[in-house]
Amino acid sequence: MTAPVIGVLALQGDVREHLTALAAAAAEAGPVRRPEELAEVDGLVIPGGESTTISKLAVLFGLMEPLRARVRAGMPVYGTCAGMIMLADKILDPRSGQETVGGIDMIVRRNAFGRQNESFEAAVEVKGVPGEPVEGVFIRAPWVESVGASAEVLAEHGGHIVAVRQGNALATSFHPELTGDHRVHRLFTDMVRAYRRGESL
Ligand code: GLN
Repeated sequence: MTAPVIGVLALQGDVREHLTALAAAAAEAGPVRRPEELAEVDGLVIPGGESTTISKLAVLFGLMEPLRARVRAGMPVYGTCAGMIMLADKILDPRSGQETVGGIDMIVRRNAFGRQNESFEAAVEVKGVPGEPVEGVFIRAPWVESVGASAEVLAEHGGHIVAVRQGNALATSFHPELTGDHRVHRLFTDMVRAYRRGESL
């Protein structure tokens, strides 16, 4: 079977790192900036960066509605950090004009772990990722205040929820794309493969 085609939303943020991690996880990866490019992928990563900027650019580039439609239709999507914020049905403290794609019944608090100079790394055990804990890189990271009944908590750090999955939508507060450990990207690539086969993993 050919490799799954996975896009990285390339409006702002750490796009290149995700492209590299996806390629290492045996996906065919490419940037997505236009609705026509979105239509061609089997799955999508929304990178870390600045969620207000990504939100505003998604509206400006005519991508917000197509993104919502594909996520609603079940396309696998993985958001890291700012990408997690984009997948939240609700943000606790949105900046003005900030919208989300939604898809995960969770309430997210932006910058919850503190400012840039309070960024840190920590070992995080993630459900569904076999072996040793994942090295979590937290950069002005959000945490999840609460999840609804249909969302599954995959990881916590310091008593706060930092990884969640609902159906084909996956979100982490931290950045596996910065570590060289591609197990979370492999989990996502497996979700995309299952989706292409018409199954859910
Ligand atoms: N704090 C940023 C935001 O609100 C997210 C930071 C990140 O993606 N590393 O978008």
